[in-house]
Amino acid sequence: MNYIPATEHLIELIYLLASALFILSLKWMSSPTTARHGILAGEIGMVLAIGGTLLHHGIIEYKYIAIGLVLGSIIGVPLGRVAMTAVPQRTALSHAFGALCVTLVGTAEFYLRSPEISKFMMSVLSVEVILGGLTFTGSLMAAGKLQEILPQRPLTFKGQNLVNLLLFATAIAMAVFLVLNPGTKQLFPLMILIALGFGVLLVIPIGGADMPTVISLLNSYAGLSAAAMGFVLNSKLLIIAGALDGSSGLILSIIMSKAMNRSFTNVLFGAFGQVQASAAAGEAKPVRSATAEDAAAILAAANRVVIVPGYGMAVAQAQHKVRELYDVLTKRGVDVRFAIHPVAGRMPGHMNVLLAEADIPYDRLIEMDEINGDFPQTDVALIIGANDVTNPAARTDSTSPIYGMPILDVDKARTVMVIKRSMSPGFAGIDNPLYYLDKTLMLFGDAKSFVGNIVRELSGGH
Ligand code: NAP
Repeated sequence: MNYIPATEHLIELIYLLASALFILSLKWMSSPTTARHGILAGEIGMVLAIGGTLLHHGIIEYKYIAIGLVLGSIIGVPLGRVAMTAVPQRTALSHAFGALCVTLVGTAEFYLRSPEISKFMMSVLSVEVILGGLTFTGSLMAAGKLQEILPQRPLTFKGQNLVNLLLFATAIAMAVFLVLNPGTKQLFPLMILIALGFGVLLVIPIGGADMPTVISLLNSYAGLSAAAMGFVLNSKLLIIAGALDGSSGLILSIIMSKAMNRSFTNVLFGAFGQVQASAAAGEAKPVRSATAEDAAAILAAANRVVIVPGYGMAVAQAQHKVRELYDVLTKRGVDVRFAIHPVAGRMPGHMNVLLAEADIPYDRLIEMDEINGDFPQTDVALIIGANDVTNPAARTDSTSPIYGMPILDVDKARTVMVIKRSMSPGFAGIDNPLYYLDKTLMLFGDAKSFVGNIVRELSGGH
């Protein structure tokens, strides 16, 4: 293939553009008003990055690349079409693929270069494959837990943390040995094997409820390993994209840990998410239930209503009915706002995305910290398929697994109405004392049809 230096300049220019688009993409995605531009910028950036790479002079033939592209697309298209509720596990799977790719490239580079590898390069290569390996298996475990192929509860054994620590230390020791003796080819696969095993053991003791934080942390590892690969392949684009991925994943994990009032070490070693034996079963305490007609009457008489959406609204795809409810109440002069908990649903921003899809004005979506002070002046807190994020045990019961997690203070509203299908617990698997309060009315039913019934009552039965 003819190679002219101008191509190299063109590639650099394309990479520069792609990097700028990745940065803009992250920036724009941080606000609902610009999020769509952010997605588009990311997509264009990725097309440019792939296009620029395909111009590279090192490519001798395109046959295998074409096969790879076709195979990747065959896997990628259905992955992009999963239900919104399955996005966390889908994301975990794409991290797994990315990390596997990084590990394979690192392995190929090692065998191509060994034993002529500088100390710096061998260190970076080791970081790349250790992080890549543990992210690959760790992400597969996380996806399996979220898809419920694997048990969600923490799988623990005695001395687990010590075993994990020893495994990690062994992998690092091997890396150091390889840096000093890069010709020891037989050690390299062993180091990867240990990293792969470490990834499994790292994630299985963590409960399903912590998987999103873990996934975002694995996202960060995948980014760091890609940045390391950038050094190995001498690609500035990979270094930039990897660093962006690594740092944004870390920031997101910190935000999520904060939202659950948990420290990183607690997430990683706390075996959180164990289902309480005493939770669901046991004494059936009395609750007050009501009909759609009752609920409509109470809402119509209210001045201030705060709607608290949760995972159940997502499952029922009730967001459009919720929009109708918002419209009909607003027309009647009721002030309706939405309280958004940072970990409501099953992924960060889950509720924002659904409510935006139903065209509910952004300025009606109020973050937890901002709205919590308003609950005492709220006539009705209407909870639609949310549970854990409203559980007052997080404030009051120091034995509760969610103790310390910031929650929406719905119990301070004058009347609380909860739409859910049964008395089943939410994601954390624990009972919610909110349901037994005198001021609470349980509205049993599917979120979409129940909200639809309330709207019908409010619209005069039409
Ligand atoms: P939740 O605690 O999981 O509760 C959801 C409730 O929705 C359930 O109690 C369920 O009760 C009800 N529900 C399910 N399907 C329904 C339907 N079709 N119609 C009406 N109700 C329905 O949800 P959440 O309050 O949103 O809290 C989120 C939880 O997930 C937290 O524990 C959080 O830590 C965790 N988490 C968050 C993320 C994130 O990043 N956002 C990711 C993973 C996990 P019934 O079965 O009785 O209907």
